[in-house]
Parts: sequence; C-alpha cells; structure tokens
Amino acid sequence: MKVAKFGGTSLASAEQIEKICAIVTADPARRLVVVSAPGKRDREDTKVTDLLIEVVRAQLTNQDGHTALARVIDRYAAIIADLGLPDTALAPIVADFERRLAMSTSDEALYADAMKAGGEDNCARLVAEYLRHNGAEAHYLDPGEGGLILSEEPGNARVLQASYGKLRQLKDRPGITIFPGFFGYSPTGRVVTFSRGGSDITGAILAAAVDATVYENFTDVDSVFVANPALVENPVAVAEITYREMRELSYAGFSVFHDEALEPVFHAGIPVVVKNTNNPQAPGTRIVPERAVGDRPVVGIAATDGFCSVYISKYLMNREVGFGRRLLAIFEDEGISFEHTPSGIDNMSVIVRESYFNHAAEERVLRRIRTELEVDELSVARGLALVMVVGEGMHHTIGLASRACTAFARASVNIEMINQGSSEVSMMFGIAAADIPAAVRSLYGEFFASSG
Ligand code: ASP
Repeated sequence: MKVAKFGGTSLASAEQIEKICAIVTADPARRLVVVSAPGKRDREDTKVTDLLIEVVRAQLTNQDGHTALARVIDRYAAIIADLGLPDTALAPIVADFERRLAMSTSDEALYADAMKAGGEDNCARLVAEYLRHNGAEAHYLDPGEGGLILSEEPGNARVLQASYGKLRQLKDRPGITIFPGFFGYSPTGRVVTFSRGGSDITGAILAAAVDATVYENFTDVDSVFVANPALVENPVAVAEITYREMRELSYAGFSVFHDEALEPVFHAGIPVVVKNTNNPQAPGTRIVPERAVGDRPVVGIAATDGFCSVYISKYLMNREVGFGRRLLAIFEDEGISFEHTPSGIDNMSVIVRESYFNHAAEERVLRRIRTELEVDELSVARGLALVMVVGEGMHHTIGLASRACTAFARASVNIEMINQGSSEVSMMFGIAAADIPAAVRSLYGEFFASSG
C-alpha cells in the first residue's frame, strides 16, 4: 500500500485535480491519498489557506469575513465547473464554510484553526466526488473518524501516539481513501491544525500508521535540488538522500518538504519519494534510511536567515560548574528556544531565531545575564544567516571543511561562526544574511559545478 500526498499547487485548478486522479488511478497500490487545500495557480495567485486566514482576521477585527470568504467560494466554484461536476456540488461547501464562519470566536486560535481546516476538508470531499464521478471507488474520510488525534496546540499541533492504533485500520478500508491534510482533532474534539505546510505531516503519519511501502509526496518540481534554484541556475537534482540529510536541509530552508514531516516515516523506516504531479514519469527524489556515499560526500547546500547570536564571555568560564545550564535557563524562563550554542574555553554564543527575540526580550535576557552570571562581555549580533553544507560523507572525507572555507573566501564572505562536529552530517556556518547568495553560489561551484 502506498500513501500519496498532493500539495496545494496540485489542487489549484480542475486541470491539476484531473492529473491527480490520473496518477491515483494509474496504480492500484495508491489507496490512501492526502490532499492539501487549493494552492496558487500562478505566482500572483493566493492560496486558499491564506484567504481563509484573511477571513479569520476580518472576523476577529469586527469586519465581515464574507468578502474574503467569497474569494474562497469562487475558487471551489471554478474547480467544480471546470471539472464538469454538477452545480449542486457547491452548496455543501458553501454551507460548510458558513458554519465555520458562524462558530464562536471566544478562543481565537481555535477559531482560526477550524476555519483554516475547511480548505483541506472541502478539497478532500471534492476530490473524492470527482474520482467517483469518473467511476473509481473513492471515499472521503474525516480525520476524526480515521483516528488522527492531535495535541491541543492550535496552529502548531503534534500527533499523539494514541492515534496510531486506530489509524492502522485504514489499511483495511475498501477503495481509495481521500484524507484531508493539515488538521486533526484534539482529545476534547476541537479541530486543530499543524503548522503551515502541515499536510506533509499528515501524509507521513498515515504512511507510518499503515506501514506503507512508500510515502509519495507529490509537489510541483521534478526533484529536490542540491541548492535553491532561486540562487543557483539549474542546480543538480538529488536522486537519493537520507532522512538525516533531508532533515538538516529542511531546517536550513529547503522548502520542498515540511521539516517535521520526516519524523514518523524516519522511525518506521518508510522510504519517501518526492515527485512532480506535472511530470509523474520523472523518478523524483528518494529519501531513504541510508545511501551509498560514493563520490558524493556533500548532498546539498542550504541557507536561511533570521537568526541572531548572543555572545557571552567570562574569564575561567570553563571552571564554573553549571554556567551553561544557568545561561540557558534564562532563555527557557523567557520562553525562547535556542537553536545552537557554539562554545570556546571562556565564551559561548547562544543562537536564537530573531522572531522569538524581539528588542524587549533582548533587553530582559541581557539584563539577567549581566546580573545573574556576572559576565565580562556580552553582545548581540542580529541579521545572522546559517549556511549548512550537508552530506553523510562529511565526517569521513578529508578536506571538506577546507574546501568550504576556501569557497567562502573566494566569495569574500566573512565566516562569523563555524559549528562542525555536533552533527555527523553537516557543517554549519554563520554569515551575514546579505552574503547568502554569494556564499551559496560559491559553495555550489566548489562541490557541484563539475557534476552539473
Ligand atoms: N494548506 C496548508 C498551508 O498552506 C497546509 C498544506 O498545504 O500543507 O499551509
């Protein structure tokens, strides 16, 4: 049994949905299908999920959400008309969104989740209906009925282990099951969503639950590329990559796959294939437990900005038992998650995301560090980017760090921080965010240009 997940661009129009149906019915093993909400038809378009967020914003600021909702309804109406489904298919969708709109807004985050979930929910019903219209045995399944129970963390829910027992039974359902992505139900029965892009997570959970032979993740590119195509012209495609490598690249900005989605399939050892709905014949990228490194020690280069570094130095820090714990406890008390902590003998940097570290938080944290830890030096550098050079062969191949550093030097990029050793599959460099394009291009030239 295969689990196939289709992303937003694969559901953006009737034409795309026809492609999905052809893909699904071409292989009888594709019996569990997860769909996103309709995404962008072109660059200027707006995703249905973003339109629904607009609806929520309007409702919560005492404006009428109907204006934004009308645009959502128009999207479904156009899809229904272009698929040649009867006009009556629209009425239940309108009724469903009206029901969501009228729900209590007393808990704003839960209200937002209930509204956002409507994008996937109605889309899944529509895809099932279209498949049946074409003679396939297809059924929509509500995630609650299926057994997908999530923590009550609106907009950022996590799967509860208790889900897996019931979800396993999806194996035995007849025909093709169309399961909406992105949301599930909390133990108290409230609709909750994963973070954005979370349909990938739904697909991975289902693949793990039914012990699928493969989790196929259909998107709009032929494969994952070794570097961001927006920065490097025609980058080399990745044929095979390990979960660990993909995890590190997703963390640092590879947007093909949600970075939390690999966890369930990683634990179950289920291979993932990233494929293109617009070109399903292309082999895609396989994400597997292990790969033969051969002459490809580096599999990808990723870069992401939005970090800042808090630098602390104190003479004889290395002799002070508990210094690191007390330092990190300050961040913990402030509810700030730290990303990395490169350290020296008498100094330590704490790297955090700028989005968690506004100026008020910075002031509080710095004041506490100064008074509670009596440090010698304390400073904050904002506008930091992290560049990751990732590959399973990293730690066994001589000279890779030197090649990476040479590439930075060639691009006149100053390295503000290096972290190598904590991860077996990556080297991480901190640079100024403005240097990302030059750094990535230079690293690409160093590690891939000759094979491209
Ligand atoms: N529709 C949701 C989003 O845009 C979830 C997804 O597409 O995976 O974030």
